Amino acid sequence: MKLLTKIQPQPDLQLATQCPTCGHYSAFTWIGEQRYPERVAKITGIDKVNLWRCEHCMTTVSNLENQA
Ligand SMILES: [Zn+2]
Repeated sequence: MKLLTKIQPQPDLQLATQCPTCGHYSAFTWIGEQRYPERVAKITGIDKVNLWRCEHCMTTVSNLENQA
């Protein structure tokens, strides 16, 4: 499956929540969105996800707002 990734750095956009990777309550910086091809979007019902970076462990997680 080929994923199309478009990174648009927006350092001002942040949120704070518990990190699913390191478990810390941390600040997350929005680093862009990942768009799926139309064929994949039709199957999964998801056309894009937002990518966030944990400022504690620097891991990139997706759709963090759905877990917050
Ligand atoms: Zn983390």
